[in-house]
Amino acid sequence: MIVLDYWLHILCISLAVLATSNVHAAWKNHEFDVMGTRASVELWLEKGQNESALFNAVEVEMQRIEQLMSPYIARSELSAINRLNKNEKLLISNEMYEVIEKSLYFSDKTAGAFDISFASIGFLYNYRDKQQPNAEQIKNKLNLVDYHSIVLNKKADKKPSIHFLKTGMKIDLGGIAKGYAVDQSIKLLAQQGIEAAIVTAGGDSKILGNRGLDANTGELIPWVIGIQHPRSENKQALRLPLSDTAISTSGDYERFFMDGDKRVHHIIHPSTGESASAVVSATIIGAESIRCDALSTSVFVLGLEQGLKLINSLDGYDAIIIDTNGKVFYSAGLASQ
Ligand code: AMP
Ligand code: MG
Repeated sequence: MIVLDYWLHILCISLAVLATSNVHAAWKNHEFDVMGTRASVELWLEKGQNESALFNAVEVEMQRIEQLMSPYIARSELSAINRLNKNEKLLISNEMYEVIEKSLYFSDKTAGAFDISFASIGFLYNYRDKQQPNAEQIKNKLNLVDYHSIVLNKKADKKPSIHFLKTGMKIDLGGIAKGYAVDQSIKLLAQQGIEAAIVTAGGDSKILGNRGLDANTGELIPWVIGIQHPRSENKQALRLPLSDTAISTSGDYERFFMDGDKRVHHIIHPSTGESASAVVSATIIGAESIRCDALSTSVFVLGLEQGLKLINSLDGYDAIIIDTNGKVFYSAGLASQ
């Protein structure tokens, strides 16, 4: 009797474990707030893979990047950089070095349209409180928006350092850090054996693999990604079938307030210190999320003509731009499809 009780007990435990564990492979979804935005992870979980450990790993990684790169966290590495006086050097992590180096690369590529030192003026804007700098304040700070005055140093086997050539300079990685975090998250999931997933942070997404396999035709099914309609919150301007790629959208509807007819929003033209207004939305599609992120902000600032010229000069990257009349334009790689 005791033996039977024992085996019944074991059977109950086994059934309970089976009921709570992942018996069938399935899509699983998790959302959380990080880096001032909503992030989501959707992944194809195979039998035996640990759903909550995977979601937790992505959340921890994104929070780690936020702690390093947020301008709103006083103890972040970025905040320490922003306290530097002219020519004062600070040792920084390799990771910070690499993200700033990539930012400077895009500054060069875009003739300064992408410039993380926009923050020298950017910090005078508060979109929630509808605050913006006046013309005098912009004039006083505009010479601090100057990526040439951000100096990175790296010697073999030594910790890299940064210094500014001007006092009062500030940097902000809001146009590139979410893309970086999305790349890191997908890398992490792939290392854990995940073969199909999509990770999104605000306007930046990266797709690993496909949405599925058509049982009848044997063909891979892509994800269908919607691009937000810039003037109707619950509408999509267009939908794109995508697999194994990153996609980022920058829009003037994300963080803004109206000053009369003027839309004051979060993407700043480095040469005026005011919100860029040539287009209303710029989407970039390509392999790396960090590049798509920096390029979407860049193309938003550059506008239609220069933006398309830049993207058409880059291998493997495409753009979809919506102008101020709501007209949609495609880079050469997409227009030919
Ligand atoms: P995204 O939504 O990726 O286009 O990024 C917008 C964010 O990029 C803003 O919230 C700022 O943090 C940052 N940003 C704004 N203007 C610029 C600029 N000209 N160059 C680089 N980053 C910028
Ligand atoms: Mg961007």
